[in-house]
Amino acid sequence: MVPGARLIVLGKQGAGKGTQALRLSRHYVVPHISTGDVFRSAVRSGSEFGKKAKEYLDAGDLVPDEVVIGVVEERLTHDDTTHRGFILDGFPRTVNQAECLVSILAPQHALDVALDLEIETAHVMTRLASRRVCSDCGANYSVVDNPPRTRGICDNCGGEVVQRADDTEAAIRRRLELYERETAPLIAWYRDQGILGQIDALGQVDEVTERCVAEIDRRKQRFQ
Ligand code: AMP
Repeated sequence: MVPGARLIVLGKQGAGKGTQALRLSRHYVVPHISTGDVFRSAVRSGSEFGKKAKEYLDAGDLVPDEVVIGVVEERLTHDDTTHRGFILDGFPRTVNQAECLVSILAPQHALDVALDLEIETAHVMTRLASRRVCSDCGANYSVVDNPPRTRGICDNCGGEVVQRADDTEAAIRRRLELYERETAPLIAWYRDQGILGQIDALGQVDEVTERCVAEIDRRKQRFQ
């Protein structure tokens, strides 16, 4: 494995983006940048920015493009991302965000792969109902097939493992609706750019990670 990669992860809510992005960030030794985690942490801090973000998150609505693009642009100027790369989880979510990402990244640092984790909507409802997250580091768990070793305590950082405030039925429906309308068009958009990698997201967590790594390595080799 050669460290370094510039990746984004697409997929419906519950496809396993957060789980796979964290694993891939360890595999390729690159920072995992989750826009959802940035907003959840702002909400916890109680800042003015967090209070505003909370309204969008609780309703399952998208935070306005100019806000989220500003957050990503600022993060991508840090040295850790310019050296080895990054994995973006939850961004871009609209074609406008994808176009802005092209202008944010220097041409020599363009994306290697846009991974699309494919899953049927029927499966995601069950996954989201069992999903739990660490309120400190954002690690994902499932009470059904991937619980933390100690109930309620994060394996990674010891933080509290909770159910997300936006994993209510109404907010899930709203997020899935927005996914179809705003984010699904990105699949064709990245296919047209020639960097789309589609992965079957059903199966054991390790199996899905292996599929992602095989696809990323295959595509990275083409550029070496
Ligand atoms: P996630 O953890 O990726 O499911 O994101 C949780 C919530 O954060 C979303 O439902 C949105 O309210 C907000 N959010 C995260 N990423 C974005 C984005 N790229 N554009 C707009 N809103 C976002």
